[in-house]
Amino acid sequence: MLIHRCAGCSEPGVDLCRRCRFALVASPPVTTASGIVAATEFSGLGRELVVGLKYRNRRRLADHLAEQLSRRLDPTQIDVITWAPTSRQRTRRRGYDQAELLARALAARWRKPCRRMLYRSHGPAQTGQSRASRLIGPQFSARPLRHPPRVLVVDDVVTTGATLHAAEVALLAAGARSVILAAVAATPDGPPKRGGPHLARPVRTASASMPRGLHLVPSMATMSGDVA
Ligand SMILES: [Zn+2]
Repeated sequence: MLIHRCAGCSEPGVDLCRRCRFALVASPPVTTASGIVAATEFSGLGRELVVGLKYRNRRRLADHLAEQLSRRLDPTQIDVITWAPTSRQRTRRRGYDQAELLARALAARWRKPCRRMLYRSHGPAQTGQSRASRLIGPQFSARPLRHPPRVLVVDDVVTTGATLHAAEVALLAAGARSVILAAVAATPDGPPKRGGPHLARPVRTASASMPRGLHLVPSMATMSGDVA
């Protein structure tokens, strides 16, 4: 039989022991250079928990991580929760999408709807892409939204923020009223602003951040076309 051990310190018998739970709660939030708030830093305990969820099939850690993320966000600003989907191959290999588990755990905590709203756009393989387009990250599309909701997009780890910002662009193009981006853990891209605000960065609204014919990147135009 498998003996459960604390994902933080290996104490037997629990998913996450009391001491590690307290340490997680006490860990300061991180704000990335692009303004995305993460529940904790992708190092030490935060790293152990995310790695456990992502690579060691420890799905119940999603509840603990979602709980910590819920402390950084204001649910009154959010109508629906979604996630930045992991590639289909990875989801198949793992048997689950960790970002979806996090989004669903958070939604259950808040009793809010959780829906798949984002789809990975088919693009050239990463290996064939220039460094610039790799930095841009994956492209997403979203189906047109009939009743413009305020959307929270959840991801596990944020590094450059490219994935979450691509999700934001797709959702605004699909008609979302506003988009909040959040991750469970952040790796610093440049020096992170430690202990940032407890609320997510100011909500970006469609009118504020999506002027027509935008400056983003050429491939974004294709993406907008997908969802128009
Ligand atoms: Zn522990």
